[in-house]
Amino acid sequence: MGGQPLFILSEDSQRTQGRDAQSSNIMAGKAVAESVRTTLGPRGMDKMLVDSSGDVVITNDGATILNEMDIEHPAAQMIVEVSESQEEEVGDGTTTAAVIAGNLLAEAEDLLEQDVHATTIVEGYHEAARIALEAVAEQVLEADVDDALLEQVAESSMTGKGTGGLTPAELAETVVEAIRHVESDDGVARDDVSVHTQVGASSSATELVPGIVIDEEPAHDEMPSEVEDASIAILDVELEVRTGEVDAEYTIDSIDQLNAALDAEEQELRGYAETIADSGVDVLFTTDDVDDRVAAYLAKEGVLTFADLGNKDARKIASATGASRVGALADLEAEDFGHADRIRTETFGGDDLAFVEGGAAAEAVTVFVRGGTAHVVSELERAIGDALDVVATALESGEVVPGAGATEIAIADEIRSAAAGIEGRKQLAVNAFADALDVVPRTLAGNTGQDPIDALVDLRAAHEAEGRAGLITQGEDVTIDDPVEYGVVDPADVKREAVESATEAATMIVRIDDVIAAE
Ligand code: ADP
Ligand code: MG
Repeated sequence: MGGQPLFILSEDSQRTQGRDAQSSNIMAGKAVAESVRTTLGPRGMDKMLVDSSGDVVITNDGATILNEMDIEHPAAQMIVEVSESQEEEVGDGTTTAAVIAGNLLAEAEDLLEQDVHATTIVEGYHEAARIALEAVAEQVLEADVDDALLEQVAESSMTGKGTGGLTPAELAETVVEAIRHVESDDGVARDDVSVHTQVGASSSATELVPGIVIDEEPAHDEMPSEVEDASIAILDVELEVRTGEVDAEYTIDSIDQLNAALDAEEQELRGYAETIADSGVDVLFTTDDVDDRVAAYLAKEGVLTFADLGNKDARKIASATGASRVGALADLEAEDFGHADRIRTETFGGDDLAFVEGGAAAEAVTVFVRGGTAHVVSELERAIGDALDVVATALESGEVVPGAGATEIAIADEIRSAAAGIEGRKQLAVNAFADALDVVPRTLAGNTGQDPIDALVDLRAAHEAEGRAGLITQGEDVTIDDPVEYGVVDPADVKREAVESATEAATMIVRIDDVIAAE
């Protein structure tokens, strides 16, 4: 064979191999995790993110931050996915998961430098993750998951978030009430709880609406603004003068003929309104246009009408009130009607909203979030969203664990005990996993201005002596004690998911030793 070099890649593609590839991937992953570290816990700081069009988001939420950041590096993107899957699966713990993943990578880097093979690290991490999941199960509290405990779960998830003028405790009550409302023998219908935001009042005006809220105004000023005990129809029909399929032109040669043509039109429109009124319906929603004259007739008949509804809102109303959607006016019958205890409309500084309360079919509820500015309202919406998720998660599984780093301390302790019995270099990887989990209590300490190492040492000692020890923040005070006594608790599933998704991403990144990028 001649000395001709063999090119299998195009000239423009870039290739990094071996330790270089590992290092740059690990560095990128670590950098992403590092970027959200300071937002963890009750004393976490907020970030202000400005996108290319100048829109500003101010948030403390890990998933939101990583989502808004324009991250390109593929390994970094995998850490973003950790927080995304955390958000999807359990709705909270997104910063925790990303920070753990970043530290698993940092520990792996050290091991690689000590010549521990990547596959040994991967095996060790998987082994440690298994031990961690068993340890989480051991941390589950014996206590019944009652309203008081659920409120603590909600409050713990909101501590440190921008909740406007409201305290997390005040919001927690609303959140638990909402989730209890959608609980049945089949579980928790989390999707039946919506959050609707409206800028303009102080956040203390935030309330639970026993139904749904949509951005709609009545089709006519003179329609009733409130209907009680309402039968409801949803139409997918245009209520305008019918235009023919073919363009017909006809010549009018007398004023009588013109009047007759106009009368026929009026007749047709009035006919629509009469058909609707005669059907006995009180409130009409239609996904199509309504001619102003039809709206005026309907107003005279006292039928509250909302026109041009979005498909999504139409579905929401159907599912909340039990109304079936009707595709032709002639088919409108009482058996298609839904029902609600009350429908009312209200104007908030130029925005018109319709409240459909006490729907017959579903148990839908809406947390109606108020706040002085759009930023306050958005962050409040995220905090409430997280709280709804954790309460639903905790209620469904019935499993709650101590927060404030106590569970992570306990898991790390279990892993270290188990590591002693593991042979070979894998033991190093298992221990490294425990060290990586320490990042949670260390970061909680660092974010409260404490020395992370001292705090970690004290926490471990307290854990050894008392069995349950977290770094609890209450107002200005930071104490090492049993978090359960202070009501700092998280759903067990949030910890499980964080361990699993962080392990998955870190091991995937560590295994890569060749990056081939097309131009
Ligand atoms: P994440 O995105 O991971 O949920 P958070 O900023 O919400 O990040 O912080 C969650 C962590 O804060 C959890 O470990 C939780 O136990 C802890 N935590 C919540 N309230 C307190 C508190 N009062 N004192 C100490 N830690 C708390
Ligand atoms: Mg949280």
